[in-house]
Amino acid sequence: MKLKWKPKKLTLVIIPDTTQSVVRFRISHLSAYIAAACFSLLMLISITIYFLHAHTVKQASDLQTKLSGVNQQWSATLTSKNEAIEQLQNEVIQLSQQAEQMKTKVEEVKKLESDLKSIAGIDHEPSNVAIASTNSEGKAKKDANQPTVGESPPSTGVGGSPNPVSQEIILKLGQDTLASFSALNGEVQELQTNLVQTKQKVADKQEQLRITPTLWPTSTKVVTSPFGYRSDPFTKIPSYHSGIDFGAHENDPVYATAAGKVVSTGKDIYHGNNIVIEHSKGLRTWYMHLNKILVNKGDSVEKGGKIGLVGSTGRSTGAHLHYEVLKNGESVDPKPYLKSIRKDDN
Ligand SMILES: [Zn+2]
Repeated sequence: MKLKWKPKKLTLVIIPDTTQSVVRFRISHLSAYIAAACFSLLMLISITIYFLHAHTVKQASDLQTKLSGVNQQWSATLTSKNEAIEQLQNEVIQLSQQAEQMKTKVEEVKKLESDLKSIAGIDHEPSNVAIASTNSEGKAKKDANQPTVGESPPSTGVGGSPNPVSQEIILKLGQDTLASFSALNGEVQELQTNLVQTKQKVADKQEQLRITPTLWPTSTKVVTSPFGYRSDPFTKIPSYHSGIDFGAHENDPVYATAAGKVVSTGKDIYHGNNIVIEHSKGLRTWYMHLNKILVNKGDSVEKGGKIGLVGSTGRSTGAHLHYEVLKNGESVDPKPYLKSIRKDDN
């Protein structure tokens, strides 16, 4: 049998409806294959495009989810930062208030130092710094420049914004507070130096007081004969009394009027039992007519220390203490020296 290539035809029939005639198409097998191939290719491309589109949509969705997450993180971070800033702002305000309180305290310490100098009687200079910081003018100036908690700070915006505290004001407050603390640091250092000097001056003053005969030599304050010219108790003729006589009972204690060193003890017909104490260069005290001497030459005595007992030895009409202050060997009036009493005499 012999095969012959005879192109086969395919007939496509289109029947619109019963009233119209039938349409016939005759196409070759090759055309049908080509059409099928084209259709398959078209389907493949469509499917590929579909999957590509689906993939892209999924990627976009993932990105959006990620972006949303990042956005939330940023939001949380921003909130946290804002809270931190607000807290810092409040702390700046509190620091500002503390600086003001410290200023007041420093002024109080300055006043105390001034008072201390006044009490100690050393180069007292009235301080007006404390007054300047507490007067109404100073207060008003402070209020105008530095807002405090509970008060609305002056607005720098246009239109009267109710914004309670602007960043600029907080920044300026922080800078002012830093300057205040720096200034306070300087003042505290100066105060420290002054207090050290004052302490030294007080110590010097105390030492000076220790060796200056300011105490009364007897418990009694009865002066029976002052320093100066008088009628001699024995001869009744005018004479010079080189000390003060204190009336006292026999054996009443006699005290050293300042700290010092006993330079002589002795007895003679005029002064009776007597003691001489040297306190500082050129300043001595002399205690006479004692019934008893309780110290020895060379002894160191403290201010207020008991050195003898009242008597009437020597040229005396009765129990009393004749007390002299000698400056560079010359008798001077002891009265200006007598300023303090012994603590247990109160
Ligand atoms: Zn006398």
